[in-house]
This record gives sequence, C-alpha cells and structure tokens, in this order.
Amino acid sequence: MPEAVQLADFAERRRDVDGLVRDLRVEVDDLTAEQKRADADVEQVKARRARDQGMVDAGSITDPKALQRMLGELESLERRISDLEDVELDVMERLEAAQAELDERSRNLAEIDEKVALLEEARARKAGELEESVLGVERERAAMVADLPDDLLALYGKLRDQKGGVGAAALRRRECGGCGLAINPSDLAAIAGAPTDEVLRCEECGRILVRTGESGL
Ligand SMILES: [Zn+2]
Repeated sequence: MPEAVQLADFAERRRDVDGLVRDLRVEVDDLTAEQKRADADVEQVKARRARDQGMVDAGSITDPKALQRMLGELESLERRISDLEDVELDVMERLEAAQAELDERSRNLAEIDEKVALLEEARARKAGELEESVLGVERERAAMVADLPDDLLALYGKLRDQKGGVGAAALRRRECGGCGLAINPSDLAAIAGAPTDEVLRCEECGRILVRTGESGL
C-alpha cells in the first residue's frame, strides 16, 4: 500500500483512538474526584464513631437511656460505615478499570504515532530519491545536449517546432517513424552508405532520421 493511503488510514484511526483517550481522561478525573468524596465520607463517619465510642468508654454517659441511645447510634454508624466502604470499593474498582483502559489506549496512540513517523520518513525518502532521479535525468540530458553540435541542435529545434513537437524520428523497417512513409530503395542505399556521424533527413517529411538496429538497411 502506498504511504499516502496508509497515512490517511492511520490518521482516521488516530482520530478515533484520540477521541476515546479524551473520554477516558474525563472519566478517570471524574472517578478520582468521586473516590476522594467517598474516602472523605467514610472518614467523617468513622470520626464520629470514634468520638461516640470514646464517650462510652470513658463512662461519661451515666443516664441508662442516653447510653442505650448512644449504643444504638454506634450500631447504625457501623452499618453506615460498611455501606460507605462498599461505595468506596465500587468507585475504586471502576477507577482502576478506567485507568487501565486509558493506559492501553494511550499506548495505542503512541504506537500509531510511531508508525506514522516511520511512514512519513519513508515517504520523504522516496520523494528525495525521485527528485534525485529527476535531477539525474536533467543532468544526463544537459550532458548529451552539450555534446551535440550547435547547428544540429538548431535544426532539431526548428523541425520540432514545425513538425508538431517531433523533430527527429527513428528509421525502422525502412520506414520513417515521424511520417510513417517508406524510404525508397535508392535513398535507403544512400543512407546505408553514409558515415555514422552524418545527419540524415527523411525525404518525405524532412525530419532528422536516426538509424537503429532494425532500420532494415
Ligand atoms: Zn518522414
């Protein structure tokens, strides 16, 4: 798969996971606050139980009915503490689960970012290589043009402008690749006898004719 397609795919997945991570952070924050409240509730009732128990232990309540009421209150405080501790435990469990999921999703996000960085690196490297090869072709062309005589280049440029962008054509199977017409036998004989550095022209269209291995000479 090309890097661009993979990157688009990862961008979409990252958006989804990032959304989840944001939701989970809010959930963890809410549950953390809820846990603090639950802890404080338990501590508050325990403090009251300690105070009451202290009074009972000190024997400062002498009235039997008042003592009875106090013992009843201590029992109900005991139940209240037990209920509040259940709430505390439940919040703690939900907080742990949310925190574990947040950790996992955060790891997913980091993994995606790592892969995206690698893909971007590969894409940049390929772009660099492509640019390098384009520059190479340009350098080669410049070197070739520099080797050609000025009058031949001028002729080629003029023909290219006149002949629809094709100033030179290959001679293949005794035909001009520019106009597609067959070269007559006497011209072929002249071409076959011409020195390799002589500039040949098609008698029909006037384009520069380039001899090839399959010219049919
Ligand atoms: Zn021709």
